[in-house]
Amino acid sequence: MKPVSAQFKKSAQVALVDADLQRAMGFIRGGFVKNRRAAVERLPEFDELRRAARGIKEHTLQNLDFYLQAFEKQVLASGGKVHWASTPQQARDIIIGICRDAGAKRVTKGKSMVGEEIAINEALEGAGFEAIETDLGEYIIQLAEEPPSHIIAPAVHKTKAQITELFHQAHARYGYNERQTEVPALVDEARKVLREKFLSADVGITGANFLVAETGSTVIVTNEGNGDLTNTLPAVHIVTAGIEKVVPTREDVSTLLRVLARSATGQEMSVYTTFSTGPRRSDDLDGPSEFHVVLLDNGRSQMLGNEFHEMLRCIRCGACMNHCPVYQGIGGHAYGWVYVGPMGAVLTPLMVGLEQAGDLPNACTLNGRCQEVCPMGIGLPGLLRHLRRRQYQNRQSSRSSRAALAVWSYLVRRPRLYRRVMGTAVACLARLGRRRGRFRHMLLAGGWTSVRDLPAPQGASFQLQWRRRRQATEGSHDR
Ligand code: SF4
Repeated sequence: MKPVSAQFKKSAQVALVDADLQRAMGFIRGGFVKNRRAAVERLPEFDELRRAARGIKEHTLQNLDFYLQAFEKQVLASGGKVHWASTPQQARDIIIGICRDAGAKRVTKGKSMVGEEIAINEALEGAGFEAIETDLGEYIIQLAEEPPSHIIAPAVHKTKAQITELFHQAHARYGYNERQTEVPALVDEARKVLREKFLSADVGITGANFLVAETGSTVIVTNEGNGDLTNTLPAVHIVTAGIEKVVPTREDVSTLLRVLARSATGQEMSVYTTFSTGPRRSDDLDGPSEFHVVLLDNGRSQMLGNEFHEMLRCIRCGACMNHCPVYQGIGGHAYGWVYVGPMGAVLTPLMVGLEQAGDLPNACTLNGRCQEVCPMGIGLPGLLRHLRRRQYQNRQSSRSSRAALAVWSYLVRRPRLYRRVMGTAVACLARLGRRRGRFRHMLLAGGWTSVRDLPAPQGASFQLQWRRRRQATEGSHDR
């Protein structure tokens, strides 16, 4: 597993002053957010569809063992194989074993978040295979040797000038010596380089947006068609997917696809939707001769039925991160692992441990926007609060925050004392800050005052004002 950054705060500070990143992130605010809103407004039954989609996922999770077994049975019946992996290491070993058995040298990859989760590219290269990403965004970050910064737009943080330089350096060996500066020319050059790789690949690895229990099919959506070339041209097709991706029927997939595309990019449908069912049949014109599905658990079954259960409904649309003010400010890399934004702040600590990713559940203002836009109605702020509670109970939060919370909880359980203490504290701060109207430094608030001033309280506290107002109202009623 890739190391998870324990340097969230430092990385976030660097990201905030990175002018290129800030410019590139403007696309999230101006593109994805606007497009999603327009797509939702064009579909009056969107909320109904959301409820139906949520019902499908919840029903499947309640019966996950049944649908997974049904899926396996259908894959076997269509001539494919299912491999079960509890850990990323097991998944890597299985995939490398399949590639070795196939005598492979070159492996093409369609976009797969589970592939990122198990760090399959590094494992393949370590085992002597050439692994090539074929989704354009993934290809760009592979050349840059970076992890994705968004789950559906992995290179959203890259500017055109940066991509020009990356392609110029990487493509010279294929005879492309001219620096391309326009988007169509860049795309055309990448397409020509990748076409050659597609045609000579021995194994193709894709992810899956859904697995269909009734037919044993795997489903991927792309906007570039690279998934189809990855799963039909090589002799061996490997699908990597989390166990929560299974749904009962093709009809269910069509409901989920309608909310997925709208929530992700604002499209009514993605450009390509591909169902893969087993290896090539005798009357098929093309397709692989082997079809493998690697199903990964990696902590998912532990989430079933516990307080994080609803996170398994996630369909990886990215809407939560597009609408998150923290993600919009710092981008994805500061989160330190493959899942970013609000869904990443929940999933990463659950998959790699709170001790490694303890800052993530706290990188949230709890404004609730992510929950509002999540097509699966996942209560992300509540899940982040559960993680904070776990952190507190495991004594993994800082001493000062534990002390502050202990004092706070003592006071709020004694309302009269609370009012007296807060009234006195606010009056003292108001007096101390009267001259400047703000504080440059404040004990126990160093995280705030190290980057901005803290305004001094103005006038009476809210509680005092409320009490006075109520007394005045009651007085006027008595007259
Ligand atoms: S948590 Fe919800 S909004 Fe975020 S990626 Fe998952 S389904 Fe989409």
